[in-house]
Amino acid sequence: MSAGRVKLSAAVVVGICATFGPAFGADPDSIERGVGRAKALLKQHQLDDFADLRVPARPYNRDVVAAARREQLQRLLEWAGTRPESEVGSLAQLRERANETTAEILRVDPPTPYEDSMTYPGLVLVLREVEFAARAYHRTHPNIPSPVPDLGRIVVGTRPSMICDVSSRSANTDEANWEKQVSLIEFNQGFFRFARVLSDAVARIYPVSNEGGRPGRDTNPLRVSEYLDAHPEIARDFSNWLCGYLTKGNSFLNPAAQSGAMDGTTDLLANSFDRSITLFALGHELGHVVFREVGLQARLDPKIPAGWQEELYCDDRGVLITMLVDEHRTNLEATVLGSELYFTVFDLVERGVSELSTGKDFYRRSGTAHPPSATRRERIPRDATKSLLMYWQQDPTKESLERLTEVGENLKGVVDALWSRIKKDVKRLHSEGVEVAPELRYLIPDEGK
Ligand SMILES: [Zn+2]
Repeated sequence: MSAGRVKLSAAVVVGICATFGPAFGADPDSIERGVGRAKALLKQHQLDDFADLRVPARPYNRDVVAAARREQLQRLLEWAGTRPESEVGSLAQLRERANETTAEILRVDPPTPYEDSMTYPGLVLVLREVEFAARAYHRTHPNIPSPVPDLGRIVVGTRPSMICDVSSRSANTDEANWEKQVSLIEFNQGFFRFARVLSDAVARIYPVSNEGGRPGRDTNPLRVSEYLDAHPEIARDFSNWLCGYLTKGNSFLNPAAQSGAMDGTTDLLANSFDRSITLFALGHELGHVVFREVGLQARLDPKIPAGWQEELYCDDRGVLITMLVDEHRTNLEATVLGSELYFTVFDLVERGVSELSTGKDFYRRSGTAHPPSATRRERIPRDATKSLLMYWQQDPTKESLERLTEVGENLKGVVDALWSRIKKDVKRLHSEGVEVAPELRYLIPDEGK
């Protein structure tokens, strides 16, 4: 059954190639000024962060980018060499495509001299995938407004801050005409670290399956549970990671804290999770841009607190953009799984904060800007089917709806299986009076304040 498995694609590591020019609308001068302002703002934030971290400003270094890509390609080729050619394609082709992508990344002019050499290239690839997909969609659906806002009016960059956050803002708030507004989207290093560490951790949880002769992971909660019983070190490592993150916070998100080397299949799965999380986060922020530009008053469930409406709207957009990018490459269940992963692990963080601060995992926060992760995750299959109808005029079959629901339920089952194994460790910390890390205190439920 396909819904119970995640398929792997070497394309995730190799990246895709596409060439784009600026897509400026009317009055390019005004937009160019806005772009200049966004870049200046980004550079200032980067320098402020370096000063806060008390480290010298690190300039973007193309040699470091090229070396990291070479190492990544080497690992991919080693793994691919162990698989039949029918599955991964020819090694020569893999190498050629990866080299083309690397050359293209090296040609990119970063928005400031201080982009992060390790994480900015991955962001460029994801951004290009979005741009490529938006153009392809426009060609096949010329009469439907693009789900992606004009990327020529958006500057995307990285910040050295270790806070796990991605944010977007308008760079020229004095510009009344939304068609000339420029947005700045900033990814903190803390976000990339969180995504990387949790992708590695989650990739290990799923047992290897070889259904139909293709490598993949079994996502059936029952078999995951059996697998966790047979390999107690997986839950133990996850518990160490979660307890460390809950009590030490963002400073714990250090690659040295990660568990040792992973086998090629797990590594590739972790890469694909990592990319999915970044893609969803970018899609979510593009949602904020659309929300701001159009001044949307989203008509969602009236029972939902007003402050959550924008966030839920952006989640919808994140799922939609993920579907747009992955439509031709993977199945809808896998796409939805990628979008749900971030909330799944964040749900564990929220349960952990609740348990650590109150001794109970009754986590349900109210009156804050963001709805609980579990609520956000549960909405995703419904969003996906709504988008399928609106943007692709596809009425999902009963069977595909069932498969989507199954993906969500499987994930919930996996989270529960994991949580039941690590809860006692968090409970012990609570009884010892250990406190929640300062940067995660905003997640403490009212009952624990
Ligand atoms: Zn948001």
